[in-house]
Amino acid sequence: MSNRLIVVSNRLPLTLRKVDGHWTTERSSGGLASAMNPILRRNGGDWIGWAGAGGEEDQEERRSVLQDWVQKKQCFAVELPDEVATGFYEGYSNQTLWPVFHNFPSQLKFDAKDWQAYVEANRIFSKAVVERYKPGDLVWVHDYHLMLLPQMLRDELPDVAVGFFLHIPFPSSEIFPILPRREELLQGLLGADLVAFQTHGHLQQFRSALLRVLGIESKVTEVAVDARPVRLEALPIGIAPKEYADLLSHDEATARNHAELIARYAGRRVLLAVDRLDYTKGIPERLRAYALLLRSSSELREKVVLIQIAVPTREGIDTYQDLRTEVNRLVGEINGKLGTPNWTPVVYINRSIERAELAALYQLADVCWVGPLRDGMNLVAKEYVACKAEGNGVLVLSEFAGAAAEMGEALLINPFDEERTASTVERALALEEDERRQRMKTLHARVLRNNVFRWGDRFLTALQEAVSERGRYTDTQPKRLRPAEVQQAYMSARRRLLALDYEGTLVPFTAHPHQSAPLPSVLTLLTALARESKNCLALMSGRPAEDLDRWFGAIGSMWLVAENGAELKPPGASWEPLRSPVPTDWKATVMPILEHFVDRTPGSFVEEKKYALVWHHRLAEPEFGAWLANELVSMLEAMLAETELRAFRGQKIVEVRPVWANKGEALERILAAYSQPDFLFAAGDDRTDEDLFERLRDGAWTVHVGPGPTRAAFMVRDFESLRSLLETFTEARYLRSA
Ligand code: UDP
Repeated sequence: MSNRLIVVSNRLPLTLRKVDGHWTTERSSGGLASAMNPILRRNGGDWIGWAGAGGEEDQEERRSVLQDWVQKKQCFAVELPDEVATGFYEGYSNQTLWPVFHNFPSQLKFDAKDWQAYVEANRIFSKAVVERYKPGDLVWVHDYHLMLLPQMLRDELPDVAVGFFLHIPFPSSEIFPILPRREELLQGLLGADLVAFQTHGHLQQFRSALLRVLGIESKVTEVAVDARPVRLEALPIGIAPKEYADLLSHDEATARNHAELIARYAGRRVLLAVDRLDYTKGIPERLRAYALLLRSSSELREKVVLIQIAVPTREGIDTYQDLRTEVNRLVGEINGKLGTPNWTPVVYINRSIERAELAALYQLADVCWVGPLRDGMNLVAKEYVACKAEGNGVLVLSEFAGAAAEMGEALLINPFDEERTASTVERALALEEDERRQRMKTLHARVLRNNVFRWGDRFLTALQEAVSERGRYTDTQPKRLRPAEVQQAYMSARRRLLALDYEGTLVPFTAHPHQSAPLPSVLTLLTALARESKNCLALMSGRPAEDLDRWFGAIGSMWLVAENGAELKPPGASWEPLRSPVPTDWKATVMPILEHFVDRTPGSFVEEKKYALVWHHRLAEPEFGAWLANELVSMLEAMLAETELRAFRGQKIVEVRPVWANKGEALERILAAYSQPDFLFAAGDDRTDEDLFERLRDGAWTVHVGPGPTRAAFMVRDFESLRSLLETFTEARYLRSA
């Protein structure tokens, strides 16, 4: 874990500020700085980020401060020309990406010039990283401002180890596709070795976007990009709990603040809310819910106070100005209409406060009310809990904050439902002491354990593992099959097992699957292979049993596997399902969905097999068919998640069948009957054949027909090449030998 680290984020942990006409340095607090600084100290390395808008004046003094950062703090400031900075930060990052990623499509604004600025800014960051990079360094890219950076780095430094962490949510596959330049963003991320998210939910939505937008299928933990694996992880960020513990136990300012607060709010229950003044944070919703609470529970009047900290943010953007006006109005209305000479219901603080004040407020508050409409994580929730070692507080938490996935002991709310939110807050105020302590202590222990240092270590371990896996993957890229080598192995073997796919492997694709009847030459070939006493031949097809019987019934000494592994027929015996009973009652639910896709896609059709339903789009317009196939798979994946059924994409098809009905399982059955062959040969062209290749151990001749990606060890150009090879197996000298 001691590789040098290059951290790249939009902002550095240091900020330039003009004080009394001079540029000075301010240290930014906050989770990321707390997490990265100790790791950077341990591993050594640099932090690269934007220093903020420069302005025209005092450039020399500014440069000298930045130079100081390099020497003393290992912080390298990236300079962005003003128009690039505006288009990049206020434009594409915060008016296009931010609203879409937070499920606010109505707030989306897009300007092609902003996109150009975003690309340009990412390029400037890339240049800065390349300048500092030394072989062996780990590059850790943070957040939505820099989504193009991983691929830009990959282009410049093909061996770079680069991980990306998304701090904000990843939107659903309904929302993500509306994003202008969505393809470029996904491609940008896929340049990384590791892409990590705050929650599994966000990770799944990213996988759906890959499928829907780029047609790329992925596993839960990995996606293959050319010959390179990209690891996927859900790693919820934590905080540095000790910083809060230290403030509470040793810091004089915190103690003084706390004492003052206790005196000021004596006899009142304190509700606390701490947010940036952002429309994703649900501040108007909270204020309206609070007003409802005060109106419906008059006994709370003068007994409760809501302290709302709203830190100004992105003030150059109109929406944020509008929000500020609305919040001012709501605060004024509540205080004006419900307040009394002795009581101000909302204490509104529209500025950033010191950490010593914040810690004291956390310590004081009876309830922390965290109500974002959507949030990547929400650190305030964790900070509050960190300050409640004694268990004397209640966390009310929006289920739409990433934190909700790990903080189930909080009282969860839907912030859009203001009435129910109000009653949950009322319940929080009335919670029995035992229950309150129980919930808070469990949360507290978890916040301590899943801290930001653990998060950082887990990310870097995952990144290093991902990099070391690259070799494994490159090894599995298929090599061109050399006929002489396989012929030699075939000739010297005593017990051979040959498993062959049919359509696309032995014969070309036809317009309709039923028309794939074999030519006499194929039948002759299979008959000759099957007749050889040292051979066990299995034909494994997606076709149903009756097609295979009709076409191959005459070759008695061959195993037939139908419906991609659902059913099989040993030589001379009858058909049997691979497992029983086989569920079929699901067809009535899935069929209407497939039929809907038939209606939308001229030329496509549904085939009902005994154990499967298949949507074929081989006659549809190719791009449209492929695009809809992605959409269909995303839809079915969500629908079938809890069942033993899966939706599989194959050559111009989407097939729904039980997960165990696959060629790999069928091969196991054949191997149980025909054990320990010393020559194992499997050939196929389709994704269904990948199950077969995966099941076969080292030393097997797994052959993909056509170019990859594939797990097969070898490839041949097309079905004709494969047939020529198999024909050589039937030549007399191979049959005679050994
Ligand atoms: N915070 C701060 N000063 C303030 C109010 C809040 O430094 O006046 C910090 C707070 O302690 C927390 C962060 O700002 O660490 C807010 O993080 P969160 O994940 O809750 O929301 P974000 O602002 O990142 O969307």
